[in-house]
Amino acid sequence: MTDELLERAAAVAERAYAPYSNYFVGAAVRARDGRVFEGVNVENAAYPLGVCAEKVALSRAVVEGCRPGDLEAIGITASPCGGCRQWLYEFRLDRVIFPNRDGEVVSYTPAELLPDTWELE
Ligand SMILES: [Zn+2]
Repeated sequence: MTDELLERAAAVAERAYAPYSNYFVGAAVRARDGRVFEGVNVENAAYPLGVCAEKVALSRAVVEGCRPGDLEAIGITASPCGGCRQWLYEFRLDRVIFPNRDGEVVSYTPAELLPDTWELE
């Protein structure tokens, strides 16, 4: 499963819209019912308006009815940024899989990626 999600993430990364950075990122998230939702980073000339691949994948899952707890694992072609770690925590995924800086595939829980995080009471 780990390999399949990363393979799908790598394949979809080619469709990223990244004309400014040329940094192409893909993500593939698997729901507990087996569905897989893919995402890519989408940049904008106003740089802060760009969105990350994992946010797009999670948003697509939400559009299809998924809610926190419905998603099992996500494969991402890059380490998730701080903001995306908060998103991953919100959706309570079991595993977040990505290649680390050394190219080694690693797997963490969202809480491991964002310990002692903020939660809305
Ligand atoms: Zn991000």
